[in-house]
Amino acid sequence: VENPFEGTGAWYRANLHAHTTASDGDLPPKEAARFYRRAGYDVLAITDHDTVTQIGADLPGLLLLNGVELAAGRSKQGTRFHIVGLDVRTPGPWTPRAESAQGAIDALREDGGIVFVAHPYWSGLMADDISGVTGAFAVEVYNTGCDLEILRGFSMVHWDDLLTLGKEYGALAVDDGHRGAVDHGLGWTMIRAEELTPAAIREALLRGRYYASTGPKLLDVRIDGGTVSVKTAPVRSIALVSEPGIGARAHARSGGTITSAEFEVPRARYGRVEAMDRDGKIAWSNPLWLRRPEAG
Ligand SMILES: [Zn+2]
Ligand SMILES: [Zn+2]
Repeated sequence: VENPFEGTGAWYRANLHAHTTASDGDLPPKEAARFYRRAGYDVLAITDHDTVTQIGADLPGLLLLNGVELAAGRSKQGTRFHIVGLDVRTPGPWTPRAESAQGAIDALREDGGIVFVAHPYWSGLMADDISGVTGAFAVEVYNTGCDLEILRGFSMVHWDDLLTLGKEYGALAVDDGHRGAVDHGLGWTMIRAEELTPAAIREALLRGRYYASTGPKLLDVRIDGGTVSVKTAPVRSIALVSEPGIGARAHARSGGTITSAEFEVPRARYGRVEAMDRDGKIAWSNPLWLRRPEAG
């Protein structure tokens, strides 16, 4: 896992989870793509249920990644995992391969894809369920559709529980849009890649070179000696979230904003930055691994 704020590459704005009329979304694929291009996105993965939706040609300025979402397996509570594969090759149908969550992940990866676990809170997944599978690079920390529909869009606790267990998951913000203008353009992932190609975006995702946001920009996150230094667009708070009982949060004075914070490097395995603006919109960095996960 790399720190995207170090090194080279340009930042690209991506929605990696989207539905169209090819499954249960209400925008035709081309209209969904046009929405994201107009909204200033650089990357879109249409991830219809069971099938890989092709638009044909890329729209100029918008890179389209193949994608598919599978309802697979069961959690210990009996609910289904939703697993998203990106950059897969086989058009579908995919559902017959999704008997178990691990089976779905393996099938998507064998097809050349990279895989993440969608909306843990909405799905009723617990860290125990997710830590029982391997091969996914990220979970969704924010999902617009799940947030607007039933207020189960935020999965910070699931993510922190996994990180506390030493599972090196990154986190994505996605729209998972089904309802046209209502749930499109509210959660996205900023990816730092060498170029705007499927290979470069895929590489950046697997290396952790991205952060999730519903609004604020993260400008810099780095460790200088014993200090984690953060720079952001104007926000009302910046936190370093870590293992239970550890961590810190810097606040602006009432009504004001801050654009930087410094924290002592925690004596913990990981720390991740979370910034909230005055509208309650959030940005989430990936974890900085301070000590490598060990057994126990
Ligand atoms: Zn889903
Ligand atoms: Zn979905």
